[in-house]
Amino acid sequence: DSPILIVGAGLAGCEAAWQLLNLGHSVVLYEMKPVKFSPAHRSNALAELVCSNSLRSNLTDNAAGLLKEEMRRMNSLIMKAADETSVPAGKALAVDRHAFSRFVEDSLKAFPRLTLIRREILDIPSDGIVIIATGPLTSDGLSQNIARITDSSYLYFYDAISPIIEGDSIDYEKVFRASRYDAQDPGDYLNCPMDKEEYEEFWKTLIEGKTVPLREFEDPKYFEGCLPIEVIASRGISTLLFGPMKPVGILNPKTGKTPYAVIQLRQENREATLFNIVGFQTKLTWPEQARIFRTIPGLEKAEFSRYGSIHRNTFINAPALLKNTLQLKKDEHIFFAGQISGVEGYIESTAMGLIAGLSASALYTGKPFLPPPPVTAMGALLNHITSTESRHFQPMNINWGLFPPLPQKVKKRERGACHALRALESLERWKSENFMES
Ligand code: FAD
Repeated sequence: DSPILIVGAGLAGCEAAWQLLNLGHSVVLYEMKPVKFSPAHRSNALAELVCSNSLRSNLTDNAAGLLKEEMRRMNSLIMKAADETSVPAGKALAVDRHAFSRFVEDSLKAFPRLTLIRREILDIPSDGIVIIATGPLTSDGLSQNIARITDSSYLYFYDAISPIIEGDSIDYEKVFRASRYDAQDPGDYLNCPMDKEEYEEFWKTLIEGKTVPLREFEDPKYFEGCLPIEVIASRGISTLLFGPMKPVGILNPKTGKTPYAVIQLRQENREATLFNIVGFQTKLTWPEQARIFRTIPGLEKAEFSRYGSIHRNTFINAPALLKNTLQLKKDEHIFFAGQISGVEGYIESTAMGLIAGLSASALYTGKPFLPPPPVTAMGALLNHITSTESRHFQPMNINWGLFPPLPQKVKKRERGACHALRALESLERWKSENFMES
């Protein structure tokens, strides 16, 4: 009865441990606190919420609410703890963070098969099955070893997230498809053209936009690698024209001319429901992003699936490295879960912990693991991080754009409810086919 090892007792690690313990496994859970703290963790508690006490919407017609409901149906410990320790927060689910962590710790410690060891792990254990769930601030020593086994070019320390907009909110009368330097090839990019006057107005608005301050442990040096769009703009009125808004080689088929400036949109998923504003990683606040980016021709009615950002964030290039079971392609005994696996957010991290727990159990017992269907929120997120294009991979949170399109056309305000209905039916089928003993 060799134990399954989990490194990191945050949201993902605790959820994975709970799933495994309930399936009858022995678990050794390593946590470096209080021996060592990341720059954001403050308490000795397991499953510490490092910032907000909100787990976002609790309504299933919202993608974050649906993800939570699916996890409840999969007996999630984090969801049990959140429901038991919730505080009033309208339509959102917010918790008393101390009671929440206590509930998680007590629930895990009730299992004699759990061994909790408070120690920093520096090397990935090489014997047996191990789940790495050390989060966005994985300690430096372990990061070096993760870099070694994953090929260092696939481990990142900062994200650089450009805003992502919904494909059906783009005005296709104004944007056009074109490849740089190739008038014959319609290309993969959508282009939003600007004339000189539009560009200068946009530039002025951009440099005056309100930004989010850096956290004290975020090193401004990283900016040189991936500058926020507003910082590029602040270096001079023409700088963007030689960077992310470069028009050279792009012909507008409607006018036969090269626009003064161009903003490119790159398809983000196979279903073409999401488009990324290329090179527009930013520290602008969310309301400012909505206000300023909706002045771009073609994006006046843009719906944002996620806003742009840049954070200190340790994560791997999941589509290059992981199978859809969260196992490392080159060593199936190693699993990644939580934020380090390329998702973003408390509940998204938890969901990957839940899946890693079930998947590791399947490996242990020699059964194949069938991932949750992509029409479910858990499946859509897993599918995205493990099968999206790896070249431009950035962490993702749950949103409707990740789901396969609905078979029928529905009004926007009914979309969430239709997705939820399809997802929950499919989840129940998957659950009964895979986790119910006959
Ligand atoms: P964590 O919850 O961070 O757990 C990882 C655990 O591993 C920690 O307990 C850590 O001490 C331990 N660990 C690390 N290295 C080692 C090692 N070598 N050996 C042993 N143990 C180790 N998401 C939201 O949804 N809302 C927010 O408000 C929010 N705010 C955030 C604020 C900050 C500053 C950061 C960095 C992230 C924030 N996130 C937020 C993003 C993210 O969802 C959370 O960080 C979430 O806790 C990630 O869950 P996790 O289980 O992957 O990692």
